[in-house]
Amino acid sequence: MAASNSLREYNMKRNFDKTSEPMGKINSSDREPIFVIQKHDASTLHYDLRIQVEGVLKSWAVPKGPSTDPKIRRLAIPTEDHPIEYARFEGVIPEGEYGAGTVMVWDYGTYRNLKDEKSMRGALNDGEATLWLEGEKLHGGYALIRTGKPETGRWLLIKMRDEEAKTGIDITEERPESAISGLTLEEIASRQ
Ligand code: MN
Repeated sequence: MAASNSLREYNMKRNFDKTSEPMGKINSSDREPIFVIQKHDASTLHYDLRIQVEGVLKSWAVPKGPSTDPKIRRLAIPTEDHPIEYARFEGVIPEGEYGAGTVMVWDYGTYRNLKDEKSMRGALNDGEATLWLEGEKLHGGYALIRTGKPETGRWLLIKMRDEEAKTGIDITEERPESAISGLTLEEIASRQ
């Protein structure tokens, strides 16, 4: 499978003697695919959206995080594939290591591909995927759309118009805590 080498960049960027992040191994399963959004307090605070596609987590950095408002488009920049085990990683990446800073599992759950006629990989290759998220915080349809030329590497994450859309709230402000531990970024950082 083409995915078999896709964690090479992830592994090369990290020294696993120094960071407690998991080593990258391809992991396929028949269960519902998972998604995770990690809040990452690195050189600049951002959110990392990761979705399970064929044994790895396809990843995007979302500087402002997700919105529940269909009128708000959030920039999403593709980053290297991550191993499935990374979805549960919450902790501190040491100073001097790639992505140094605190990582929180901000949201976690499963998703469904809303394009019946296409695999998720096919939809992503075409630059337009729609997912139904069942997370702790995020629910409902989200679109991931590539804008401009493929090589610009710019995508948009947009809430779809459905019964789970909510306007007038900022979900990242309203629910700042970890979806798996309930801890804040400061608490995760000081737990080390
Ligand atoms: Mn990150």
